Amino acid sequence: MINLDALLSIPYGMFVVCSGNKTFGNGFLSNVVFQITATPPRMGVCCSKDNFTANMILENKSFSISLLSQETPASVIRTFGYQSGKDNKQKLAACTLKYGSCNVPIYLDHTISYFECKLSQTVEVGSHYIFIGEVVEANFLNDNLQAMTYEYYRKVMKGKSPKNAPTYIDNSININLKTKNMSTLKKYECDVCGYVYDPAIGDEDSGIKPGTAFEDLPDDWVCPLCGVGKDNFTAID
Ligand code: FE
Repeated sequence: MINLDALLSIPYGMFVVCSGNKTFGNGFLSNVVFQITATPPRMGVCCSKDNFTANMILENKSFSISLLSQETPASVIRTFGYQSGKDNKQKLAACTLKYGSCNVPIYLDHTISYFECKLSQTVEVGSHYIFIGEVVEANFLNDNLQAMTYEYYRKVMKGKSPKNAPTYIDNSININLKTKNMSTLKKYECDVCGYVYDPAIGDEDSGIKPGTAFEDLPDDWVCPLCGVGKDNFTAID
């Protein structure tokens, strides 16, 4: 048997991977970033061929990696994990950035450490590339913060893999079979990103107090992770 849930037990971190240049850059959220060799230091990044940043990495032959902390707000996850650079050309507009010797943007907000890499190899693996880069600069920004692990993202932030992530599991069939239930104090799951609205917790970032039933959320309330409206939520058991 293949129990796909077993794949979710593999520990990862959460990263923003950027490429481009000082004129125009883009970034995406990745949980599949790993060190490959120590001498020289090389890093690997798994990236969907559909990601807007993929072509930027191929063109600029460089990329940056920023390890996110647990303080990273859901809005950052939404921007880099659920919005494509094809639609949002301003992903980096309000971000704190620096540029190293490769000229790629390096994302600094909520970042524990960063790595600037020169692309040395690209491996095609079906729907994804594995980009391998030699580290040309690396440093800590906030080594006293806790790293956001993929487990923290899933269990505390209630997030799921975006569609282009290598760890994405297609649950759409199960979601479609769920029955809409408007009874009070039920949990509701976002059909797009998997965020779970728990009435016992509310949504403090949006001013929603604990104990607020899903049905009592304001009409303009949106999923704090991916930004879709209430119509895209389904009651769960
Ligand atoms: Fe969502």
